Amino acid sequence: MPTTTPPDLTLYDPFAQMQFGDQHCFLCGSSTDPAIDSVPVFADWLQERYGLAERQILLLDQSIHFYKELLIPCCARCRTQYVEPLEAQMEETNRLGLKGWQALPEKTLFLWLGKMFYGILTTELLTELDPLVKPRYPLAENAQMFRRFQAFFQTFQALRVPIEFEDFTPASIFILKTAPYEDTIAFEYDDDLTTMVFSIKLDNVVLMACLMDNGIIQQAMRQVYADAQRPLHPIQVAEFKARVYYAAYLFGVIPDYFVRPQRPGDQHLTYDTLIDDVTGGIFAPWLNSAYAQSLQEMWKRWQLPYTAVLSDADEPLSFLYQPDGKPYEMTIYTPEPE
Ligand SMILES: [Zn+2]
Repeated sequence: MPTTTPPDLTLYDPFAQMQFGDQHCFLCGSSTDPAIDSVPVFADWLQERYGLAERQILLLDQSIHFYKELLIPCCARCRTQYVEPLEAQMEETNRLGLKGWQALPEKTLFLWLGKMFYGILTTELLTELDPLVKPRYPLAENAQMFRRFQAFFQTFQALRVPIEFEDFTPASIFILKTAPYEDTIAFEYDDDLTTMVFSIKLDNVVLMACLMDNGIIQQAMRQVYADAQRPLHPIQVAEFKARVYYAAYLFGVIPDYFVRPQRPGDQHLTYDTLIDDVTGGIFAPWLNSAYAQSLQEMWKRWQLPYTAVLSDADEPLSFLYQPDGKPYEMTIYTPEPE
């Protein structure tokens, strides 16, 4: 007979005491031994599959790390019970490709993308807490950003604690597929810590999340997302990402999460959420000039000048849509003659 131990429903908040060092497990806060208690930000299977171990990554403070050096402190219990099973499931999902990713519950994808995001975030935070480093973005001093990370971590605790989200999903999750013609990059990742967007490309699948918007950006972009459910050229994927990044930048509210009072024998926690938007809109007004900058940034590889991106001030350049508003089918990108 298996013994049924009641699940541990105690929540942990690393932000309460700024516990981001290698002395505390990132999921439960228990003491860790830096020499042995860690998990990679990018799992071993990812590093092997995409040859990442020897590749380098540039962080916000301009420091360069190898992928394999990016570690999150994690106790043996959390590693074997929560992180490794999740990674094993993701490795299997990746083997199945697009269909596998599409079949996955959004919550699982949220937790997996959230884990990598959080790993990068704590690496950046630790660098900032180092008195010898002058951060470019003093995250820890920015109250709003701090609240955002804290809110994210409340929902991210679902990786360890059984939590049901009542009538909401914490994040916007997008799954895109690339067309083979000019898709030459097997692995790619990008993120933005301030807006909490994380994106990763695995072969012909692009996963993207805005991790703390209660799914509102996905709602707002549902038509664009529906139209993007076809094999896309990388320049179209980049445009879609620019839209998400810019929408996340305009997203101005921080959801509050409330844990329902527990009753004896509860096997999980239930979260309710509330978004206080009385003080202003949920989104700041969309400005084509700013959106065009986001586009230009995401289109770096194609070196499109800003003047080309915004030659029409009312209609930024698009590869997802034709001028008549119909989805644009493209296989090969042909630059405009100068
Ligand atoms: Zn732990």
